[in-house]
Amino acid sequence: MTIHFPFDNTYARLPDRFYARVEPEAVTAPRLIQLNRDLALQLRLDPDRLSSPDGIELLSGNRVPDAAEPIAMAYAGHQFGNFVPQLGDGRAILLGEVIDRNGIRRDIQLKGSGPTPFSRRGDGRAALGPVLREYLLSEAMAALGLPTTRALAAVLTGETVIRETPLPGAVLTRVASSHVRIGTFQFFAARQDVEGLRLLADYVISRHYPQAAESHQPYCAFLDQVIAAQADLIARWLHIGFIHGVMNTDNMSIAGETIDYGPCAFMDAYDPATVFSSIDRQGRYAYGNQARIGLRNLTRLAETLLPLLSEDEEKAVAEASKALEAFAGKFEVAYHAGLRRKLGLLTEHDEDPALAGDLLTAMAENQADFTLTFRRLSDAAAGPEGDEAVRNLFINPLAYDAWAARWRERLSLEPQDGASRQAAMRAVNPAFIPRNHRVEAMIQAAVERNDFAPFEELLTVLSNPYEDQPAFAHYSEPPEPHQRVYQTFCG
Ligand code: AMP
Ligand code: MG
Ligand code: MG
Repeated sequence: MTIHFPFDNTYARLPDRFYARVEPEAVTAPRLIQLNRDLALQLRLDPDRLSSPDGIELLSGNRVPDAAEPIAMAYAGHQFGNFVPQLGDGRAILLGEVIDRNGIRRDIQLKGSGPTPFSRRGDGRAALGPVLREYLLSEAMAALGLPTTRALAAVLTGETVIRETPLPGAVLTRVASSHVRIGTFQFFAARQDVEGLRLLADYVISRHYPQAAESHQPYCAFLDQVIAAQADLIARWLHIGFIHGVMNTDNMSIAGETIDYGPCAFMDAYDPATVFSSIDRQGRYAYGNQARIGLRNLTRLAETLLPLLSEDEEKAVAEASKALEAFAGKFEVAYHAGLRRKLGLLTEHDEDPALAGDLLTAMAENQADFTLTFRRLSDAAAGPEGDEAVRNLFINPLAYDAWAARWRERLSLEPQDGASRQAAMRAVNPAFIPRNHRVEAMIQAAVERNDFAPFEELLTVLSNPYEDQPAFAHYSEPPEPHQRVYQTFCG
């Protein structure tokens, strides 16, 4: 059976120095764990064929589909503040691009499919745990409505990868609007390759920001739009309690999607200082630092664009600074608009940010669960009989009572009735997030017992995060003290 991938590749048309051509390495005993049938259909791929033995050969990298032009993309990046002039896809191979059913061009990439010229000391492989984690978290993010890379498939390789211990190996098929990162721009800037930079910028403008091409200053307009996209994305992370964990510039998508699900995690009790990543010892990428780091990353992007912004260096710096200065405002607007929606406020009043901020402060002081507080607040919005369930989430329930009195007064100025407010709030305040303790238990079941049932169940629950799903109510609960996860690890 031949499987047709309707590839229409453009990145592979760019000059050779943008990537290395490389074939995936064959694996011994590929086995399909999960295929994302809906996504396959969106990509005009036949899910039945993809899950057939021939399809699994492709999803494991054992064979390359016709018309694929496998490449590892070159990029650089600031990792925890240190610049590395050459990183690149060390364990990922871009098979090609397809145009999806909405007319959007999307990359199809294998992750964990063997070494590339950019592997440095790495083995080019991925372990099962991180593959399941990325599959589950990226699909959960998509279901929550956030811009994100997607997971098309996960396969077991039948081989062992060595981390601290031997682990089952796996390959993830990742789908992205593109895999161009801030670090891709840094790769060319570090080489003072202005022609490469311009080609890359023109490529990204035509692929992601075609409106910028209409501007009299396309590169300025492009920078403005990337800044807007990142400000919006990071605000949305905060609204759902997401902590990316490795906000290095090579992990920041130019298209504004969440990418690189390594040690990322969702917060349980609200605390802006929350960090899960085992490698983030200083808390650099803590929940509450993400906007600041986002701006820093965008500043690195702006620096790379200076030669394109103007021939006059001073002017270029002024343009870049002006663009960067807009970040804070854009972020604040997106962040506060989202908080208002979470609180059921359709209209905008000057004191709303303080009202939201005081709730968050009370939550932090009282270790209130972030997700459940807002979910239950949605029901309390219908009437004060819902208050009991919210106040119980606070160590000192009186802290909620004091705040709720102010909130109700503010709600009385809103045009909506209680029931429609409740519905609107339930549509933005999820009942289900990928709670760390559930994710870890799911990984343990798969890795230690070859049991994929928890993965499938969790995936099903998280595909409808805004529905109550009473049969799965336990998945909405925060961890018991003995279930609490303190650290997450990169693959
Ligand atoms: P990350 O921390 O996942 O963003 O990865 C940083 C860099 O390390 C990227 O260039 C990756 O391609 C590379 N890398 C991570 N894991 C491996 C691996 N097992 N083999 C080869 N390269 C890797
Ligand atoms: Mg990365
Ligand atoms: Mg990674």
